Amino acid sequence: MKTVTEAEVLALIKENRSFVLTAHVSPDGDSLGSLLALYEFLTSQGKQVTIVLDDILPPVYRILPHWEAIRSVDEVGRINADLLIILDASTADRIGRVGEIVHAPTLNIDHHVSNRGFTDHRWLDADAAATGELIYRLIEKAKASLTKEMAINLYTAIATDCGFFRYANTKPATMRIGAELLAHGAEPNVIAEALETVSMNTMRLTVRALQTMAFFAEGKIAIITVTKDMLANDESTDELITYPRKIEGVDVAVMLKQRDDSSVKVSMRSRTVDVSQVALQFGGGGHARAAGCSIEGSIEEAREKLLAVILPKVGE
Ligand code: 5GP
Ligand code: MN
Repeated sequence: MKTVTEAEVLALIKENRSFVLTAHVSPDGDSLGSLLALYEFLTSQGKQVTIVLDDILPPVYRILPHWEAIRSVDEVGRINADLLIILDASTADRIGRVGEIVHAPTLNIDHHVSNRGFTDHRWLDADAAATGELIYRLIEKAKASLTKEMAINLYTAIATDCGFFRYANTKPATMRIGAELLAHGAEPNVIAEALETVSMNTMRLTVRALQTMAFFAEGKIAIITVTKDMLANDESTDELITYPRKIEGVDVAVMLKQRDDSSVKVSMRSRTVDVSQVALQFGGGGHARAAGCSIEGSIEEAREKLLAVILPKVGE
């Protein structure tokens, strides 16, 4: 694995012609916005670009320009390219089957502290609030024109990863870039309203999920649980973790989401505990204040395994 600079990333772009772009499964605003902005930048440079993602796309992000360019693994099949660019992913397993279908040298552009270094080239900046900040810097350094469409995608990428400029990862640079994106046509109210809109099923799920909230370590840990029988339709679980996170005295907020009878997806948010360290113990990753992993077993087993790691970290 070779660590590369911004300038070296631009050189890699310049010297190659065909690109495949991908990002992590469970796509979020940062991965989608970054992919679509980079897609437009590369296309504007005359490159041949394919975006492929190995997961279902959350419909709220349909507002993003170039959305229709995203292909599934089945649509793409096997593909050769000069370079596979992997955005916002810190380990090889985070891109699902994309690694198997694409035959190309690899470049990883990412901002996760837990990044393992799994590609031929890597541009990592763990101080960036979002991968979208890195894509912005690339476009700026290339002196390419920043279109309104790029601005919408990059604003969505950055704003969603820093809680709309509220989380600890929000730096002066994050806001300066945000301001530039507004100057280039991104409308924060339009983007925020579109992303805040939830389906009736999602609201019903929220009501049920909140009733599962349980507290441990004298209220320093709050866990909400979503079992697979609670997920019938098109519900989004993305915002659920924000509720336990708000509660006074809660340091670590957890959502346990049952995938099937033997696997549980874990999302964590924290005020002081480094939850990326907790996630790493289960083969996951993320950031100090927001991380995730998957744990094998039933919901109860996953909760016990997780609590065994978190309790000592909150002083229990
Ligand atoms: P979320 O809880 O929103 O799914 O994820 C929070 C953060 O942890 C994100 O930065 C995400 O990329 C990371 N993350 C979540 N799940 C996993 C996982 O299973 N593996 C790794 N490596 N990172 C994860
Ligand atoms: Mn990100």
